[in-house]
Amino acid sequence: MPDEVPTGAIELGLWDERMFDVVRQRDAAYQSYLFMVDMARESLNGALAKLGEQRESLASMRDDRVVLVRNTQGPEVTTYHSADGPCGRVIGKSRRLSSFDRKLEGEVRSRLSRCGACHWPPPVPVLG
Ligand SMILES: [Zn+2]
Repeated sequence: MPDEVPTGAIELGLWDERMFDVVRQRDAAYQSYLFMVDMARESLNGALAKLGEQRESLASMRDDRVVLVRNTQGPEVTTYHSADGPCGRVIGKSRRLSSFDRKLEGEVRSRLSRCGACHWPPPVPVLG
């Protein structure tokens, strides 16, 4: 009697199916982990790039003056005031310092202009 030649697919027992299922789930868990690590890495790189730009920008403003920008409703804000020598629009009657935000001059210089009524001390000489 000749040996039977197997035809068709290999039949799997229940144990084999269970084991393949565990292996598949293990692979899926690992792939999911890798995906999350990639996402976290991208998020971290984005945050670090943004913080790097902020640090570079702040480094260029190291010697900038502190200025005051009105934060209340009213006419459009077009000027900023000196924190060291504020004019009457900042410290006059019925004015409050809480109506102004402290900023570095470099943060506002491109969109606002200096108040002409404030006292602006001469720039601090840079020691070399
Ligand atoms: Zn002013």
